[in-house]
Amino acid sequence: MNKGIVIKSTGSWYTVQTEAGKKIDCKIKGNFRLKGIRSTNPIAVGDHVEFRINESEELQTIQTGLITKIVDRKNYIIRKSPNLSKQSHIIASNIDQAFLVITINYPVTTTTFIDRFLVSAEAYRIPCHLIFNKIDRYSPEQSKQMDELIELYESIGYRCLKTSTKTKVGMDTLQSWMEGKTNVFAGHSGVGKSTLINTIEPNLNLKTREISDYHQTGKHTTTFSEMFELGFGGFIIDTPGIKGFGVLDMEKEEISHYFPEMFQLLENCQYYNCTHTHEPACEVKKYVHEGKIAESRYYSYLGLLDNDEKYRN
Ligand code: GDP
Ligand code: ZN
Repeated sequence: MNKGIVIKSTGSWYTVQTEAGKKIDCKIKGNFRLKGIRSTNPIAVGDHVEFRINESEELQTIQTGLITKIVDRKNYIIRKSPNLSKQSHIIASNIDQAFLVITINYPVTTTTFIDRFLVSAEAYRIPCHLIFNKIDRYSPEQSKQMDELIELYESIGYRCLKTSTKTKVGMDTLQSWMEGKTNVFAGHSGVGKSTLINTIEPNLNLKTREISDYHQTGKHTTTFSEMFELGFGGFIIDTPGIKGFGVLDMEKEEISHYFPEMFQLLENCQYYNCTHTHEPACEVKKYVHEGKIAESRYYSYLGLLDNDEKYRN
């Protein structure tokens, strides 16, 4: 039995890369509907699979295979199908970490956008790091704004990095964070995702495709992800669906579980299912009043509770 990782999917064919680096196009055997997921695609980029070479081709140089098993996924990101509301499309799986690329200006990245992204990453159980790019362009005032954000997000537990593809600040550190991992980059169009990736790995020459999130535009495009091996070890997932992950369907009581600084207070609130809004004896509200939880984070939280367009950006 051969093992490998799905690095490309084109609908009915899947390219599987073995540990030895061999790439084999495979089809699927039977129906692989995994428990609990109703997806339009049974196999996604990032899946670890077992496959067998088609017997008639064993002695040939160009071989194709048949996928017989998917190893349980560590995590996965999905996109809802617009027409079939209960069906989702799995964009990628087994992601080790996401990098949210932010610029203070050109374009502006708001805290509500950052927080929405972090919440979906938490819900998907994908560790997320914040990359503040284009620092060569920042005025002293903008640098101060960045430092305040870094202080805030590091205090919650998110790793932050300042980068510039122009002056090469932070590039070595970014590479060392990526090494040996399966990485995904996200962030607004124009923040410099492609430039960052191409600076670190010039052979790849990626143009990160930008297709805005279905939930935000109401538009949907059929999209395929692809995974590329990094010369220094690890992979990068190139996916169009990842400006935002799209916030999952969540119960109101559940949303604050994905704000780590709020979640750790939950057991101190009077009610176990406290939404930290109207309830008495709420520890989260107390912390907000005392300035121990950032107002911007609480505001983002309320926006997610309301699921109100005005909080999105
Ligand atoms: P993407 O849409 O996120 O992939 O962004 P691109 O990589 O296409 O970059 C958008 C623009 O920002 C390009 O003109 C880049 O040259 C520019 N850019 C990227 N990184 C930096 C940076 O660190 N400093 C400055 N000044 N410009 C940058
Ligand atoms: Zn509370």
